[in-house]
Amino acid sequence: MCRHLAYLGPPVTLAELLFEPAYSLVRQSWAPRDMRGGGTINADGFGVGWYPGDGEPVRYRRAQPIWSDPTIADLAAVTRSGAVLAAVRSATVGMAVLDGAAAPFAEGRWLFSHNGVIRGWPDAVVPLAATLPVRDLLTLDAATDSALLWALVRHRLRAGEDAARAVAETVADVAAAAPGSRLNLLLTDGRSVVASVAGHALSVRAARGSVLLASEPHDDAPGWRPVPEGQLVTATADEVRVRPLPIR
Ligand code: GLN
Repeated sequence: MCRHLAYLGPPVTLAELLFEPAYSLVRQSWAPRDMRGGGTINADGFGVGWYPGDGEPVRYRRAQPIWSDPTIADLAAVTRSGAVLAAVRSATVGMAVLDGAAAPFAEGRWLFSHNGVIRGWPDAVVPLAATLPVRDLLTLDAATDSALLWALVRHRLRAGEDAARAVAETVADVAAAAPGSRLNLLLTDGRSVVASVAGHALSVRAARGSVLLASEPHDDAPGWRPVPEGQLVTATADEVRVRPLPIR
């Protein structure tokens, strides 16, 4: 169910990240090697967010398979960035297939993605959703669990929480309210990345001033490190830290 990645490091083309690796995100959209919790392909949309310079990111999102989009391959070939977040989506049954339901979700410098599902959606998280301003609920990108998770994380970021705490506390809140949920979140501001590992796989490859976090390794080269379940990763291009997620 969904595959995502985040990259920080020297500028590379989007094609080098999304298309060229042997088990690239594009290949993972039709032949993922590790799918859990249902779903076989990731054909319900995709999105890429990248930072063209020091400013805010640019996004390209579509509600169709990444392999059938006529534009993304050309765009990816000529677009370079040192900070990228991308995802391919397998919609949870009953959830809308719209451009706005595809990650990355965004505000200001932030880009966000969710790989997983909220169990008991939406009833299980009504009390949590009620802690958000009504305006936030009325302006969700889509009526999906992932869009609500972004609203919950964003609410904490707006209140001044640091990214690691915003992700960790949101995972803890939702896991307590909706046990059995799969909550692999990915958040970046283009300088650092935070990722939770809660229900799905995540691997990290850190090398020579770059870091790549991905649902599945992109190739069989050495250097990929699987992150154990129940961990929170915080990374910059130069440093990767892993610590346990809080449990309530
Ligand atoms: N449940 C989310 C959605 O439908 C994410 C799905 C996923 O991880 N496959 O958009």
